[in-house]
Amino acid sequence: MTLQIPVELGCPQCGAPVILEETDRILSCGFCRVRLCLAFQGTASYRLTTPDLPESGLLYVPYWRYRGMEFSVEGLEIRHRVADHSHLAIRASGLPPTLGFRPQVLRLKPMTAEKGNQFLKPELSFEQVRASTNGSVPGQFDGAGDPRSGRAFEALVGETVHLIHSPVLHTDDGFWDPILRRPLVKADAAALSRLARDRSAGKSIRFLPMICPTCGWDLAGEKDTLAPVCRNCHSIWDSGEGRLSRLPFGVSSSGSKGKGDLHLPFWKIRASAPDLQLETQGDLIRLANVPRVVHQDMSARNLDYYVAAFKVHPQLFLRLARSFTLGQPARGLTRELPKSPLHPVTLPLAEALETLPILVGSMAVPKKTYLPKIAGLRFKYIDSQLVFFPFEPKGTELIQNDIGMSISRNALGMGRLI
Ligand SMILES: [Zn+2]
Ligand SMILES: [Zn+2]
Repeated sequence: MTLQIPVELGCPQCGAPVILEETDRILSCGFCRVRLCLAFQGTASYRLTTPDLPESGLLYVPYWRYRGMEFSVEGLEIRHRVADHSHLAIRASGLPPTLGFRPQVLRLKPMTAEKGNQFLKPELSFEQVRASTNGSVPGQFDGAGDPRSGRAFEALVGETVHLIHSPVLHTDDGFWDPILRRPLVKADAAALSRLARDRSAGKSIRFLPMICPTCGWDLAGEKDTLAPVCRNCHSIWDSGEGRLSRLPFGVSSSGSKGKGDLHLPFWKIRASAPDLQLETQGDLIRLANVPRVVHQDMSARNLDYYVAAFKVHPQLFLRLARSFTLGQPARGLTRELPKSPLHPVTLPLAEALETLPILVGSMAVPKKTYLPKIAGLRFKYIDSQLVFFPFEPKGTELIQNDIGMSISRNALGMGRLI
């Protein structure tokens, strides 16, 4: 179970405090009713606080905090887990190495340097911290392994990375941790006074109006979605990159049982893997050794990868990607949004692309031929779109009737906490 710390932001329109989850991407103000998309410029930076802590005159020490789905190849096995870590981002002894276990009354607030607070600049990048604690971070879309970790491949996918500043009080008796309420007797005073101060405070969050750039209607979406929708002109918008940009999408009716369906979003990705001669559906059937006659038209048809555009437990995430990619389900897509509910998009396209090597590795047979190769596997990106597939609710399960796969509602809900 991951620890969620509530985030308190001031409403940009009326100034009222608004409490959000760390994974929220839409701010709804209970006072003035405004709804805004949060757009992060680089990494979100917060300061850790409690109700009884002073708002000013504190020294803040940076920690990297990250959560996500982690995949690795070790020997002939694919491993996965939910990663949830924090790590000190400066080189100074005598400070807690992680944020550790903390009381429940914690809040995260934006950095506010103007009140005489000082923020230490991180000395270690997120990549350095991850490499030192956990192996390595693969580069964008390639996934080279780290020989020191003994892993042939690693990917941290769908990660939420925050820089969290934890307060330190400097008193006449030395340094003090005001949250854990204990002295930091061994704190490296020389380092704390020498280290550079970060003056970029408060610039990391921007707010975008939830208004359709095409037709001016209010955009709709659950609070953690990265892709709000306009139900008037049937468009979907990507709130990443600090602005709203239009996302190509399609809605599948494959296996639909009618109005009660829940639609789950997937990234449909066309990419070729020249090293494996993996271009067509026929190529995949051979690679995965599926006992199915390769029809002439199928062998010629282009292969699309399907990766969930939402976070769930990594094992289920991989199973969904495998079943949908082997099933190649998208035929006859429409451009009209369904009236029934849409599950929020919580995993951006760039993160979905990072999973392609592990997805191919999990489908390819035999493993001993292919798993050692996936770290060096390169994909040529061609095209992508968001595709919604209908899932029929049956008790606690949701069933995709065309693919023949079910997923529990509980698993979907838990995924929203990753
Ligand atoms: Zn407001
Ligand atoms: Zn519109």
